[in-house]
Amino acid sequence: MSLFSAVEMAPRDPILGLNEQYNADTNPNKVNLGVGVYFDDNGKLPLLQCVQAAEKTMMATPTARGYLPIDGIVAYDNAVKALVFGAESDVVKSGRVSTVQAIGGTGGLKIGADFLKKVSPNAKVLISDPSWENHRAIFVNAGFEVSSYAYYDAEKRGVNFDGMLASLNAAAAGTIVVLHACCHNPTGYDITDAQWDQVIAVVKAKSLTAFLDMAYQGFGHGIAEDGAVIGKFVAAGLNIFVSTSFSKSFSLYGERVGALSVVASDKEEASRVLSQLKIAIRTNYSNPPIHGGAVVAAVLNNPELRAQWEQELAEMRVRIKAMRQKLVDSLKAAGVKQDMSFITTQIGMFSYSGLTKDQMVRLRSEFGVYGTDTGRMCVAALNSKNIDYVCASIAKV
Ligand code: PLP
Repeated sequence: MSLFSAVEMAPRDPILGLNEQYNADTNPNKVNLGVGVYFDDNGKLPLLQCVQAAEKTMMATPTARGYLPIDGIVAYDNAVKALVFGAESDVVKSGRVSTVQAIGGTGGLKIGADFLKKVSPNAKVLISDPSWENHRAIFVNAGFEVSSYAYYDAEKRGVNFDGMLASLNAAAAGTIVVLHACCHNPTGYDITDAQWDQVIAVVKAKSLTAFLDMAYQGFGHGIAEDGAVIGKFVAAGLNIFVSTSFSKSFSLYGERVGALSVVASDKEEASRVLSQLKIAIRTNYSNPPIHGGAVVAAVLNNPELRAQWEQELAEMRVRIKAMRQKLVDSLKAAGVKQDMSFITTQIGMFSYSGLTKDQMVRLRSEFGVYGTDTGRMCVAALNSKNIDYVCASIAKV
């Protein structure tokens, strides 16, 4: 008998499974809207100019690759702090933020989850319904019981905000609430500024722990605009967690560049928190890789490259918005009677299209248009060449 004879086959990752199906599809018109990746108007994954410039400079003075400190590149961690909280913010200047480099946004979530398991071992975790699927898995694997708070209202095509508040109000003190800081994945619906104020008030009143996942800073309304929600939590005097991902905003998916920031009550507390975050890192993967973090630090800390990055990120954001509008217009032109203008009120890379599972299956099998069964489509994978075909296909289902 083999050691592994009782090992069960794990379910396939739904998105990666979709990719495999897409790759095997021989339809010459096939379009992959299942991914969570930004493609340019030529359908190519961009390599940002600012990244190329930073890499060129780095290549000019080759350096040896020793181990990084456990918490990563200091210049990187400081740049993340400045980006997320503001370089001149009181919270950063007073030393209350502990930031560690992490292996993508996923790594930031995992390190935060492991640390939280030590701080609040009996806490429950709430994620949005629906959410990025890995939220649940990450917190379950860290040992937490995970359930969800109300979020999406399919009928209203928007956020069930009353339901969300009711879920949060009903949560026990100490509950960890995972919130999408901007560009909600998968629905594309964010809550308003005024609604954030209400969420913060409940988090505070009920002593909940907010864990803000910021995987799309700059993809919504702008870098500062998208990050403003963090300032609101800080202003409320809350101890919060923020995971950052540069996968999308720098188009550095495979470099695994992210971070975790934790806001403590004072500098001394922050240093104790940092010491524990380092234990979580040390026991997971010892210390982070160099290249991606060095590139992002070089760009964020150099005024010219930073300006270039902001420009390139703005181009991505603007292109997605244009695709949303084009989607609405072309669907109408293709004969779709239903009002699809809700697509332009959504934000970020994704759209919950409102299409049913059956329609999504037909789109795949009959037209080679791939989105998830939930009706999620990646607007950032649409371009001027494929959008008419996608709209004509949607109109037919
Ligand atoms: N959080 C959300 C909401 C995401 O959509 C993603 C990626 O799709 C991540 C976190 C993970 O980002 P990363 O690829 O940097 O680990």
